[in-house]
Amino acid sequence: MILDFHTHNQQATDALICVEPQNFDPQPGKLYSAGIHPWHSENVTSETLEALHAAARHPQVVAIGETGLDALRGAPLEAQQSLFQEHIRLAEQLGKPLIIHMVRTSQQILKAWHESQRSVPWVIHGMRGNPRVAQPLIDAGFYLSFGPRFNPATVTATPLDRLLIETDDDTAATIHEVAQAVAQARGIDTQQLIDAVTQNITSILSL
Ligand SMILES: [Zn+2]
Repeated sequence: MILDFHTHNQQATDALICVEPQNFDPQPGKLYSAGIHPWHSENVTSETLEALHAAARHPQVVAIGETGLDALRGAPLEAQQSLFQEHIRLAEQLGKPLIIHMVRTSQQILKAWHESQRSVPWVIHGMRGNPRVAQPLIDAGFYLSFGPRFNPATVTATPLDRLLIETDDDTAATIHEVAQAVAQARGIDTQQLIDAVTQNITSILSL
């Protein structure tokens, strides 16, 4: 059963493991998301895009990403936008949810949401923004995934049926520590939080 919605640790268990398509080496019993990170959006070749399309179709790849927009790193935003759109199309085509990296780009990501014909869930991973950033995303229908560092007021503002947890690239924190911290911020039992998160993951990934 998956609890950690997003990690780059290829050895992780109970986790949705994020891979770059050219490094995809599926291990038995594990589930993956495949995408080209916005930090690696410079010099994307047709080979990389082909690898993305191939990995995305693999039965152990149950989500697309991480993709998204980063105003502080990676290629100029215009190039990131076209790569992001490629991931949006792929997610729709394959009926797999989208995992999104968002740094100072919530307006652009909301715009992409409203302009695309979506049928799959969109998840903002590593949510650190304040409630003012989060609320329009919650209202639109996004899921928010929280890692070891988060804004407690944003956790409180997120409905339980829209909340996920993750370790991302943090090797110091375990997913149970994240669960505990998020539950505490929300004023509920850790088990209650874990139950809600597992139910959300089951529904997002159609497990
Ligand atoms: Zn990540």
